[in-house]
This record gives sequence, C-alpha cells and structure tokens, in this order.
Amino acid sequence: MTARIKKLPRAVVDRIAAGEVVERPASCVKELVENSLDAGATRVDVEIRGGGREAITVKDDGVGMGAEDVALAFESHATSKLSDVGDLDHIASFGFRGEALASMGAVADCRILTRERGAEHGHEIESQGGTTTPVRVAAAPPGTVVEIRQLFKYVPARRRFLRAPGTESAHVTSAVQAAALANTGVGFSLTRDGSVAFRVNAADDRRERIARFHGRRLADALIAVSATDSGTSVEGFVARPDAARPSAAWQHFFLNGRPIRDRSLQHALRHGFEGLLTRDQFPVAFLFLTIDPAEVDVNVHPAKLEVRFRDGDRVHRLVGHAVRDALLAADVRPAIALPPNAADGTVGNRLEGVGEALAAFLSAPRAEPTQHEGAAHSSSTPAPLTARPAVRYLQVRDTFLVFETDDGIAVVDQHALHERILLEELKSRVAAGGLEVQILLVPAVIEMPAADVDLLLAEADTLAGLGLRVDRFGETSIALQSLPALLARRDPARVLGGVVERLRDGRTPGGRGALLETLLHSMACRAAIMAGDRITEAQAAELLRRADLIDSRQGCAHGRPTGLRIPFSDLERRFRR
Ligand code: ADP
Ligand code: MG
Repeated sequence: MTARIKKLPRAVVDRIAAGEVVERPASCVKELVENSLDAGATRVDVEIRGGGREAITVKDDGVGMGAEDVALAFESHATSKLSDVGDLDHIASFGFRGEALASMGAVADCRILTRERGAEHGHEIESQGGTTTPVRVAAAPPGTVVEIRQLFKYVPARRRFLRAPGTESAHVTSAVQAAALANTGVGFSLTRDGSVAFRVNAADDRRERIARFHGRRLADALIAVSATDSGTSVEGFVARPDAARPSAAWQHFFLNGRPIRDRSLQHALRHGFEGLLTRDQFPVAFLFLTIDPAEVDVNVHPAKLEVRFRDGDRVHRLVGHAVRDALLAADVRPAIALPPNAADGTVGNRLEGVGEALAAFLSAPRAEPTQHEGAAHSSSTPAPLTARPAVRYLQVRDTFLVFETDDGIAVVDQHALHERILLEELKSRVAAGGLEVQILLVPAVIEMPAADVDLLLAEADTLAGLGLRVDRFGETSIALQSLPALLARRDPARVLGGVVERLRDGRTPGGRGALLETLLHSMACRAAIMAGDRITEAQAAELLRRADLIDSRQGCAHGRPTGLRIPFSDLERRFRR
C-alpha cells in the first residue's frame, strides 16, 4: 500500500503561509513600508494601481541591500533583524519574521531594485510565484524599490476574494496614513492610479498630519494626552467628547510606532471618558504608546496587529488615567450637552444607557466567575466619575437569575430576557434607521450548502438592511462582510446560521415586515447569552436595567416567558405577615 501522507511541496507551503501575512494590497503596503522604516528611510513613496491589485510600488531612501542580502530577500525566514531566539524577547524593529517578502514573492510577480548606501551600483532580483531569478547588477537610485504586480496571481481563489479597487484602495490609504502618523520624522507620499493622493514632509508635526488625514475640524478638537509610568509612556490626542463618533473606527492605537488593535486599550479609553459620552458615542483618539520591547510580545499575530502586554493592567491604568487627566485639565464639561436634569453629579448613570451597556455586555468574555455585590470596576481601572449601585442577584443553575426589584423579586430566564432585550434594541434601531454596522476587518468565510448560499444571496438586500452584508465566496461559502455592531462580538457563523434556518423554513405570511421581524428574532436568539453561561455582575445589572421586559406571558422570540415577578405583597400574604 502506498503512503497517503505526503509532505507538501515547498511552493504550496509558501502559498498557504503567505495567506497569513498577506491578506490584501493594504497588508503588502504595510509590510513594505515597515521594511523601509526598518531600513532607516527618511522618505517613503507608495504607488498603487487598480487598488493595489494590479501593482504596488514602495520606494525608499533607506540603507538598501547588497548583492548577498538581496539574493536571500525572497527566502522565507530570512531576516537581518533577528538572529537567535533571545532576540524575540526584545523586538525593536517592525519586521523580524522574515516572511513578508517571501510571502509576496510566492503569490505575485515581484521585483526588488536596490542600491546599498555608498555602493557604486545597485542590484535587482525578481520572483514569480516563488521562482526567483539570479541577482543582476542594475542601475538604481540609493535605497530600495519593491514592486508587486498582480497580487495573488498564483492563488486565483484568493485573488477573487479581493474587493473592488475602490475598497482596496481605501485600505491602502489607511495603512499609509497610519504609518505616517506613527513616524512623523519620515516623509510619505501616496499615489493612486497616477495621481498624488497625499504627500507629507518629514518636518510636519503629528497634529498637522492628523489634520491632513482626518480633517481640520477634528484636529482642532484634539486635546493632548501625555503620561509616563516607569518607562512606559502614552502620548497623543483624544478629541473633545462633542466630537465623538458612532463607532470605534476613529480610535487609533500605536505601539512603538506600529498600529495595533487592542480591546483593552479601547476599554481603557472608554474608562477615561466615563460619564462624558452617551451610550452610542465612541471617543476619537490617536494614542501612541512607547514600551520597552521586552515588556510586550508582538509575535502573537502574523500581521503583528495584535500584541500581548506583560503587565496589561499597568498599561490599562496608565491609558485610562492619562485620558481622564487630559479631559479634566481641558475642562471639557461645558462642551457636553446634558439632559436638563442630569447636571447633578449623576452624569455617569444617566448618560450611560442600555446600548453601550449592552455592547459591553456582548463583548464581555463568557464564563467569568460570578461575583455578587462586588465592585463593578476592577482595581486596575480608574475609578468611574460616579459609582453604579450594586445589584443583588443570585444565579441558579447558570440559567436563572433571581433579582430583588423595587416591588418584589423577579426570577428571570437569562437567555430569554437577554434575547428579548437584544430584539427590542435591534428593532428600535432598525425602525429609527440607525442600526449601526460593524465592518469585519477580515470577512468571515462561512461554509454552507450551495442551496443555502443561493438562499442568502437572494435576500442579500434585505440582509444588508439588517447590517449583514453577504457576498458569494465560491459555490459553497459566503463571505460575511459586516454585522450589526450590537452583535459584533458574536460568532458570525452562528448568527448567519440562524438566519439561513429562518429563510429555509420558507417565507412567513405577512410580507417583508414579517420576514424582517423573523430574521431579527433569529439574530437576537443566536446572539443572546445562553443557558449555562456564567454571567458577571455587570451583565446581571444590564439585564435588571430592562426589568420592564420581564414578562411571564409575552415571552421571548420562541414565545417563552422571560421571567416571573413575585411582588412583596404576595410574599407577605404567603407568610401571613
Ligand atoms: P523581515 O522584515 O521580517 O526581516 P522581510 O521579508 O520583510 O522580513 O524582509 C527580509 C529582509 O530583507 C529584511 O530583514 C531586510 O534585511 C531586507 N529588506 C527588506 N526590505 C528592505 C528595504 N526596503 N530596505 C533594506 N532592506 C530590506
Ligand atoms: Mg518586513
């Protein structure tokens, strides 16, 4: 019998690996720009055609590469930035994996033209789908030019997955702008299809660049933030609360010059603004952290977008306090429109409504230990401007909650009530035309039978109205591009799975309105906390906040009751008081 397990050929391995680093034109641009910065460039010029699908060129005036180095540039795990495992503990350069050029070389037609500082002439090398040419001597300006043509030419399935040139181009623009914000000492330019999108000089300061990229009005609303704690510092800006936006998309975090995504930093920022924003407002921020490289692990994500702090609490505290101090010093209060009777010191409670709380509820990690009557805020976060009242509750069998309410006790089915709250929230937002949508950074590709794909695509417009944007991704997969923000932290496959089920059941009589309602029900059901989930005190508090939806008759989406109320008068009667 012949063996069935084979080692994959090198070219296949490289193309699979490439998918992790290189996802779209913007990720190529990010890697190439980072290489230029690592090479000490003072000027980086980026040019794209067709949204980067046709061509990407990044040119720098950095140190360049000699013949021997350029010969290895397309080899995987070839890097000049790391030599032994000890180096992994203190990465100070942007690159270190030695994977970016190899990945691009494996999936596209690439060319490097480079001249080492002080050298008389340059060198050039090409890679076509992983096959490299010998290094040739070539005339070249000092520095390095890297060209990527026909991205994913050698992985057609991936190429089909690229979005329209306009969309890809927008992502490239954000990537270059992010690099330009983080590296103010370097000049940048971006040219799209032959016309210059922007050019910034090495001399511009950060606020000036923010004004260029995000508008003068926003730049004028910025308050400087600056704090240091034993070697870790946070610098940058937050916008005044009245410049807040409807999503977190305007929050920019950088770590040692690298744009990062980090939920704990978003949370810290929110804490700094506690009491100053309504539930669906998100602070605008540009925050730049500088941390000893030994204090952070940047090697947890192929695109290096996510990091792990050695002492996350300390960083959280530093950012939260820095933001709050900056806001207090800037005396932002008069700029906030308060509801008429809210200026009495209870701002935090009044302004923070269900939406934000629900979003927090949804994003809270599952299976945290239940805490009773504890402080809702851990000691690592800055104290809120006003304290929330503690909730008295008891979780029974991880399914039911017993609350003390104003007029008695309520026994609640946690799933049914949460589903009901989500449904109400979704319905009222859809009705008001204000359903907030979260675009997924990486579209979720969900496999399903071909018939279900067709079913979903046939209703694509209806689904888009509900915040679910779906595209075909092959015969048997759907690419989900967005979700309602309320459900953003939920498993997209679960949410979409519920929708398919409803569609498969056939049209409910009653036309479009009924269909919408059915779909919302299913989304709420799939996104709600399940029976068996441990809940936190904060979550319990949010459920109790909508005590008005506790109802023994009307029920959740499946027609079940959400809870029972027992008034004190009944209890008193029973105990003959
Ligand atoms: P990494 O950046 O992780 O080391 P890359 O594949 O991005 O891996 O690059 C491989 C090597 O090629 C780098 O370590 C560096 O020595 C060299 N290199 C890449 N781009 C440039 C550039 N623009 N200027 C000088 N050297 C470069
Ligand atoms: Mg690199």
